[in-house]
Amino acid sequence: MTAALGGFSATPPARAWEPSAKLSQIASAYHTTSRGMFSCAVCTFLVQPHSCMVVNGDISPSGWCKLFDLAD
Ligand code: SF4
Repeated sequence: MTAALGGFSATPPARAWEPSAKLSQIASAYHTTSRGMFSCAVCTFLVQPHSCMVVNGDISPSGWCKLFDLAD
């Protein structure tokens, strides 16, 4: 099969970061308080009411972590 594809493998390369692999609250430096105007409530990763796509555990909308991503 590899030869038929000109030497390229049909298997996609492994990704360095998988969105399904969540970080712990400690590893993400999660805090239950906001950082100024930045909080989980305005982060693209928050899953209402108390979850996050990239950090494990109970997440407060008024919290914050170093993975914060501001919604457009
Ligand atoms: S700031 Fe964003 S990534 Fe971090 S815990 Fe809150 S919702 Fe998740």
